[in-house]
Amino acid sequence: MRLLLLPGDGIGPEISDVARRVVEAVDRRYSLGIEIEEREIGFPALEATGTTLPTEVMEAAASADGVILGPVDSAAYPRPEEGGINPSAAFRRTFDLYANIRPAKARPGTDAMAPDIDLILVRENTEGFYADRTMFAGSGEFMPTPDLAMAVRKITRDGSYRIGHAAAEIAVTRERRKLTIVTKSNVLTLSDGLFRDCCLEAANDYPGLEIEEVHVDAMASLLVRTPGAFDVVVTANMFGDILSNLANELAGGLGLGASINAGDGRAIAQASHGSAPDIAGTDQANPSALVASTGMLLDWLGEQSDSNVLREAARVIDDAVNTALATPETRTIDMGGTLGTRAFGDALVAAIEEG
Ligand code: NAD
Repeated sequence: MRLLLLPGDGIGPEISDVARRVVEAVDRRYSLGIEIEEREIGFPALEATGTTLPTEVMEAAASADGVILGPVDSAAYPRPEEGGINPSAAFRRTFDLYANIRPAKARPGTDAMAPDIDLILVRENTEGFYADRTMFAGSGEFMPTPDLAMAVRKITRDGSYRIGHAAAEIAVTRERRKLTIVTKSNVLTLSDGLFRDCCLEAANDYPGLEIEEVHVDAMASLLVRTPGAFDVVVTANMFGDILSNLANELAGGLGLGASINAGDGRAIAQASHGSAPDIAGTDQANPSALVASTGMLLDWLGEQSDSNVLREAARVIDDAVNTALATPETRTIDMGGTLGTRAFGDALVAAIEEG
């Protein structure tokens, strides 16, 4: 199996190094035969090749079994004509990775604001307000005059139905079997009305699910007030981006926010957080999110190939994150501990080897 590792910008190289060592540790333990190929994207690639996403990297991603994508400092990139391509957006669009699956679960023994939170947010990943990836040609964001800026929000029947389907498929595997559809359909009656109706239609194919609809503004309150009340949450692109950060923070912090971007037959591991330029190069980043995302990717690959050993390797990675975070001595700085990124990586590898 070949995994492509793309460290990215800012804290990317530091946390990617930990993700690599974790994969190598499970590979040694279970003889998985994983090869890791590493390529540059982001600012290092821009300097070397004139683009933040070289064509060879896209080709390597297309032929890899899975991709581990580090965070990118896309807000600081030059314009696309000058080589500043957002790799995250390009991958989602090119490979049609329509489901961004973002769990938020408090890790045992940590001081999470919401110790009982245990949800999976399923965010539609290819439509909505994300102007750089929603149009066949041109951008969904434009300025008819210097004083008027407009953004088009795209919601399609097929896109809404398939994300509803993806979310329901996850919900039926969980104990509570509850699906919350989050929209602003009271105001965006056509677009969010369509999204809601398609999600309901998809969910009705799964008997035994408890289904509810919550408006996004109420959801922000309810997530804080009763975080334990939610199980699987499905929502459109931007609402999902915002609510998942809120859920991550309630579950212990942005440094824990794991995710995968999945399509039909392809997935990319990617932490929910960004490149954290404020702490880049200081050995202070928490690599848990990228490591747990990598575990999710192995689990996803295990599901695709019906491989118990890959699913087991994924479980061991997640357990190692729990073990390392459970005691203050082996926590990272953002979690109230003292360990730097690299030393925390050592603790994860030790937990995998001993576990
Ligand atoms: P950010 O997520 O990078 O940082 C927000 C805050 O969280 C910062 O204080 C940062 O230090 C902290 N933080 C983030 N990850 C952390 C970690 N692993 N450990 C400890 N602390 C962590 O958000 P931002 O500052 O708004 O964005 C920086 C850049 O990242 C921008 O260019 C943005 O466009 C980009 N971005 C990329 C992704 C991605 O690649 N998936 C996601 C979000 C933002």
